[in-house]
Amino acid sequence: MEAEFDIGIIGGGPAGSTAASYLAKSGLSVAVFEAQTFPREHVGESLVPATTPVLLEIGAMQKIEAADFPKKFGAAWTSAENRDIDHWGFRGLTHDFRAAEIMFNERDQDGVDRDHTYHVDRGKFDQILLQHAESLGAKVFQGVRIAGVDFSDEDMPVMDARLGSRRVDIPVRMVVDASGRQTRLGSQLKFKVPDPVFNQYAVHTWFDGLDRKALAVNKDQADYIFIHFLPVTDTWVWQIPITDTVTSVGVVSQKSRFQKYGGDREKFFWDTVASRPELLDVLKNCDQVRPLKTEGDYSYGMKQICGDGFVLIGDAARFVDPIFSSGVSVALNSARIACTDIVAAARAGDFKRARFATYETTLRRGVRNWYEFISIYYRLNILFTAFVQDERYRLDVLKMLQGDVYDEDEPRALAAMRDIVRAVENDPEHLWRPYLGSLSIPSGAPTF
Ligand SMILES: Cc1cc2nc3c(=O)[nH]c(=O)nc-3n(C[C@H](O)[C@H](O)[C@H](O)COP(=O)(O)OP(=O)(O)OC[C@H]3O[C@@H](n4cnc5c(N)ncnc54)[C@H](O)[C@@H]3O)c2cc1C
Repeated sequence: MEAEFDIGIIGGGPAGSTAASYLAKSGLSVAVFEAQTFPREHVGESLVPATTPVLLEIGAMQKIEAADFPKKFGAAWTSAENRDIDHWGFRGLTHDFRAAEIMFNERDQDGVDRDHTYHVDRGKFDQILLQHAESLGAKVFQGVRIAGVDFSDEDMPVMDARLGSRRVDIPVRMVVDASGRQTRLGSQLKFKVPDPVFNQYAVHTWFDGLDRKALAVNKDQADYIFIHFLPVTDTWVWQIPITDTVTSVGVVSQKSRFQKYGGDREKFFWDTVASRPELLDVLKNCDQVRPLKTEGDYSYGMKQICGDGFVLIGDAARFVDPIFSSGVSVALNSARIACTDIVAAARAGDFKRARFATYETTLRRGVRNWYEFISIYYRLNILFTAFVQDERYRLDVLKMLQGDVYDEDEPRALAAMRDIVRAVENDPEHLWRPYLGSLSIPSGAPTF
């Protein structure tokens, strides 16, 4: 049996199409099998600047610019807390806990040639990237689901492709799993481990005519992403511009809270939003243009993200809570980093696991930084707004918010934040004690 393609990719989302672009550019024969027909809707609409170098490198940036997605210059956070929190004297952190914002142009970032990134309609964005991969020579098969991969011939994995009731075997030299939260290979090979801390749930939709300035402290920043903290434990709302008039809004909360609503997503969404009456007012004054959609069970890791003849990239490799809009940038960067190893493996004619060691180490480091940052945020979110506004740490925090997380073992701000969280946890009288969230930081890095 001969391989039909050098590389077979499961899934044509941002991770799969980016990998296909890199691999096709390097001269390998590559096929993408995508279960759905594009364009299709997808959650995850706000990018971070770490996507820019990848989009430039694969040559897709001009097409993204031409699509006229809203430009994203920064991020802002608002809080339900409308009284001053006593903070004077605490390690000299002085700031307004009620609101914070960052602008991407405050810090130079390698490979980023602009002061903004984009908010995207994922139907359009993902289609542009997939068509781009095709234009570079990748073969794209839409409406084809990969039911599994047979690894019994160690030099030639065979993909089990399904087109309706038809089944076709596709032998390849190596498989890239970019199947997103479907985690095709992670599930088949039993690598998937539920996250020990996070079990969040999201309910989201689009609104037309939402007044984006209503809750903004600085009215010029209305087209930033807004994260509105709610006075409900571990609960927040995203506000993401999609077009001039359409805005994506999502509620993220603990799954256990959602379950108390017996699956009634309407009631859950509106009750939760009502905990910020000013936010409820804004939403009641515009038109909901899509049905509410839910996303659950979404935090997990993988015991292994590569092996003989395969790598996992994007959400198929790891999913961490979306609070800092990290997902698409991890998808693009994991594809970038993995493809360096894959191209070298193809040249050497050896697709054994050891060939993907650089990818594995680099991705795990980046995601560990994100994970730690997110964990600290959930444990004590007023600390996050404090650090964003403290000049000693602002750029360090911004670096993480830009998605620039792969090059160092631990950003300085993370260690400092962790020390403060420990101090608050260990002191029952601490003036920040009432603000501790219920999700506690794992004692060490997660095992995956
Ligand atoms: C509530 C929530 C909010 C989020 N907000 C943001 C945000 O603001 N910004 C951000 O960057 N990220 C966000 N994300 C994360 C973001 O959605 C993902 O990280 C991103 O889509 C990952 O891209 P991917 O290519 O790995 O997977 P996907 O985009 O999921 O693509 C996977 C593709 O594989 C296909 N597929 C699956 N199984 C098979 C199969 N067996 N055979 C063939 N095809 C298959 C699917 O149809 C899909 O098209 C959010 C996620 C959630 C849950």
